[in-house]
Amino acid sequence: KGMVVLAATPIGNTSDASVRLMGLLESSDIVAAEDTRRLFDLARRLGVHVTGRVVAYHDHNERNKADSLLDEAESGSTVLVVSDAGMPTINDPGLAIVRRAIERSIPVTCAPGPSAVLDALALSGLPTDRFCYEGFVPRKHSERMKKLRMLAMEMRTIVFYEAPHRIEETMNDMEEVFGGERLMALARELTKDFEEVRRGTIHEIRQTVLNDPPRGEIVLVIAGASDDEAIQAMGSRVLTVDDMAEM
Ligand code: SAM
Repeated sequence: KGMVVLAATPIGNTSDASVRLMGLLESSDIVAAEDTRRLFDLARRLGVHVTGRVVAYHDHNERNKADSLLDEAESGSTVLVVSDAGMPTINDPGLAIVRRAIERSIPVTCAPGPSAVLDALALSGLPTDRFCYEGFVPRKHSERMKKLRMLAMEMRTIVFYEAPHRIEETMNDMEEVFGGERLMALARELTKDFEEVRRGTIHEIRQTVLNDPPRGEIVLVIAGASDDEAIQAMGSRVLTVDDMAEM
């Protein structure tokens, strides 16, 4: 019977590939990959032979491609969906095919595995019982400030993805909005040789970023607001809304 299988791929360390992922790579009729070259590279490193048809499935074609892939699943094929790293759909392609599969009542399942969100959260040392994932920090200063201000009263641990060339500006803005005392962790190059987790206050981490700019792939984990901070932020948010009304 045909179906769609989302599968997580390693975020750095090839050995994190699951036995199930390796089996799926070998046995699926169709492999829909964000980048076909990277998929073949992964298969080579894992020593598995991809026998199915490999098609490109990325942000730019995922809506159009979803239905034709699902037609094949409907006629009995197993369609494996993988992104370049980590869990498909998490700031990666995959959501369009899941949605359409649900609409068309085509079975969809997942072979879970690495994802930078949970890896960084678990290593952060910050509360994990409640957290929210905010994806990439907005690139533009104005949008970034807006987003951070909207999160000022968030009491859950907050997880962001960030690029190394924007980390300095982002840390400046975070210190301005959340204050320097809030605890955070900066996790980079997770599962790779140069894995590093910096833990401290926002102010301390900002200093380390200035003195020793972190390279590679980065996840920021920020402690949620305390009761007092949340109440304070709520007050200033009302003010901001009033200010805006006067404009
Ligand atoms: N789907 C992926 C997942 O499940 O984690 C995320 C894909 S997103 C396009 C790529 C971003 O994830 C990177 O810019 C970085 O912020 C984060 N990331 C991915 N791998 C990472 C790693 N090994 N260490 C730290 N962050 C990583």
